[in-house]
This record gives sequence, structure tokens and C-alpha cells, in this order.
Amino acid sequence: MRKRKWLELLNLPKMLDCLLWQGARDSSGHGVVLYTDGKYWSTHRLSFRLNIGEIPKDTLVLHACGKANCINPAHLYLGDHIQNNQDRQRHRGTYQASGEATSYSILKESDVKAIRLWWHQIGCVLTMKQLADQFGVSKGCISEIVYNKTWKGINP
Ligand SMILES: [Zn+2]
Repeated sequence: MRKRKWLELLNLPKMLDCLLWQGARDSSGHGVVLYTDGKYWSTHRLSFRLNIGEIPKDTLVLHACGKANCINPAHLYLGDHIQNNQDRQRHRGTYQASGEATSYSILKESDVKAIRLWWHQIGCVLTMKQLADQFGVSKGCISEIVYNKTWKGINP
């Protein structure tokens, strides 16, 4: 029963909202599950592995949305410990991003418009990774833009 529920969850349509794991969690807030390989997996890592692909050695699966128990593959991206720390700082309550004066100043308003246009109106022909490569930023950064976590008020 539990296994079937998990497998259903992983057959996700493309969702914009967080999909929060409601089962067991570890001390850091990540979901934990005993998978069919007999090992305990962090649910976000398992979601990434099954929905997106291999996780290279020594690589973390990070949350663009900042929610440790979110398993929406569209919110997950690969990164290292440095990025992880940056993410944590960014997602602290005090963080308020707006416009070109933030850490996203690598992008211009016109880039943000283009990214949103690609993602929302041209029907996702490019993946977030491809968009990220295209604009020279992280996948998490693209995710935050397309989900209006940053650069609010900039419309295509
Ligand atoms: Zn999420």
C-alpha cells in the first residue's frame, strides 16, 4: 500500500506547487522512506533519481523552493554544499528579492522576461537546465523566476 502510494506520487504531472512529503522525516526535515531496494532514501533524492536521473557522487539534491520535505521534481536541482548554504540563507524569512539590485543581478529584466516567456508561453520546449545553461545561471535560479519567487512584477 505504502509502496503503491509512493509510486503514484512519482508519476507526477508537471506541477507548480510544492508537493510536501507527509510521511516520516529525518532531523533535517527531509522525508525518509524505505525504498524497494531495501535502503532508506531521502524522499527528495529518490524523487530526483526516479523522475530526473542519476545523482552524481558527492552531489546534493537541493530545493529551489526551500522546503526540505518537498518532493516535486520540478523544484529539485543538483548542487554542492556551497550552493546549499546559499540556498538556506536565501530562504530565510528576511530574504526579500526584488529587481536588479539583488544577487540575481547577473540577469537583466529582459532576461527574466525571456525566461518567463520561454517557460510559460512557448510550452516548455526547453528544460530548466537548458534555460539555466542558456542564461548562465543555476537551475534553482530559473525555477525561482518561473515560479515568481524572485523578480516579482516583471511580466513577459
Ligand atoms: Zn517545492
